[in-house]
Amino acid sequence: MATKTIDVREYTVRAHKRQIHTRIFHFVCKECNQATKRETFGPRPLYCESCRPPQAPKKSVQESRKLKPHAMTYKSDIDLD
Ligand SMILES: [Zn+2]
Repeated sequence: MATKTIDVREYTVRAHKRQIHTRIFHFVCKECNQATKRETFGPRPLYCESCRPPQAPKKSVQESRKLKPHAMTYKSDIDLD
């Protein structure tokens, strides 16, 4: 099997506007284990609105991530259609 090394160019995605839609997910909350549904942009939520209210401050999330910095990955799990 032949192999060779090629150069992969770095590229950036230009800033642009994109219209995204909310979706209503039906799921089981990881905290209270109740079947629930929640309308959200992007990824499937893990918690119901009473365990994780929509206006919850994101401070705790940022704080916990401070310990493990990692490269940002582009989220492509948003429906584009
Ligand atoms: Zn819950």
